[in-house]
Amino acid sequence: MKYNMVDLVGQYKKIKPEVDKAILKIMEEASFIGGPAVKSFQKNLEKYLGVKHVIPCANGTDALQVALMALGLKPGDEVITTSFTFIATAEVIALLQLTPVLVDVEPDTYNIDPKAIKKAVTSKTKAIIPVHLFGQCADMNSIKKIANEHDLFIVEDTAQAISANYTDPETGITQKAGTLGDIGCTSFFPSKNLGAFGDGGAIFTNNDDLAAKMRIVVNHGMAVRYYHDYVGVNSRLDSIQAAILDIKLRHLDEYSAARLKAAQYYNAAFADNPKITTPITAEYTSHVFHQYTMVLNGVDREGLMKHLADKEIASAVYYPVPLHMQKAYLDPRYKEGDFPITEKLSKSVMSLPIHTELTEEIQKEITDAVLEFVNKA
Ligand SMILES: *Cc1c(COP(=O)(O)O)cnc(C)c1O
Repeated sequence: MKYNMVDLVGQYKKIKPEVDKAILKIMEEASFIGGPAVKSFQKNLEKYLGVKHVIPCANGTDALQVALMALGLKPGDEVITTSFTFIATAEVIALLQLTPVLVDVEPDTYNIDPKAIKKAVTSKTKAIIPVHLFGQCADMNSIKKIANEHDLFIVEDTAQAISANYTDPETGITQKAGTLGDIGCTSFFPSKNLGAFGDGGAIFTNNDDLAAKMRIVVNHGMAVRYYHDYVGVNSRLDSIQAAILDIKLRHLDEYSAARLKAAQYYNAAFADNPKITTPITAEYTSHVFHQYTMVLNGVDREGLMKHLADKEIASAVYYPVPLHMQKAYLDPRYKEGDFPITEKLSKSVMSLPIHTELTEEIQKEITDAVLEFVNKA
């Protein structure tokens, strides 16, 4: 492909001297695990997010799992989440023998629908996992009200929305995605908005007790060496990844601005085209465009993707199969047709390349290619 969904090489080239030096230093010190680079990144991320505690871990899926482990939930407890997300969100619920309760999304933001959450709450519900899908925050004010009313935990899956700002429509207070609920979870998978050169993840919280417990859980449930207070996991961010992330964190606002600019170019190019619905940003959130995901109206999606691929332009579908239709998650509680918006989106969304290295020339080639197919179809 000439144009991939991301351009990690292009991004690396711009920070190569800094990154190479940082990696070399760790190799020379052999401080591979738990070295000063991890602590430095943790502190800098806490400051950036305005959150009391960042707990680095091995990946975003572990972050979600450790968050749920720290809440002291029992098998059979229900956790509400969206049916339109990456599998990791529901996977950890199922792994811990909790019951995933799936709900539909809003048609305009593709994020979890608070009205659907409200209907899904039962006496067994213990937590809600909103996913800030594609880079904008879910309707956290409405979600928090439901959580407060029913005494539920909120664990935010902010793997796609690090650095997004949420502004509470009632108080006007702006906070970072992942710091709005009880616990926030993110991923530093290379293609994420803040991506490592391998796997990585982190957990955020303002709650001292939860932070203390999660720090122990990620370290084999061990507060004092070889004394294990909980059944834990081994989930560490390694020093090389932390050093790279520390450098990239300094560029994160630039990166988000570049993504927004690219999204605006696409929006303008497709404006008023009845065959394409461009992504909407809700008024209470900024959008950091982890993905640029549009809805196709009566366009042959496979045909368009092939047309683009023939011109060496990547495209992707996030996500082609809703969680309730996934083989491993089939459940008599759910059937096709239960989540009409999710199901419609799964059939009609398509994402275009979006990253920090796009130029208007590249974007023009991409949008021309899209429009050529869409307008003749
Ligand atoms: C990427 C992602 C995860 C998982 O992150 P990993 O680091 O790959 O484990 C979880 N949830 C969402 C929404 C994601 O996009």
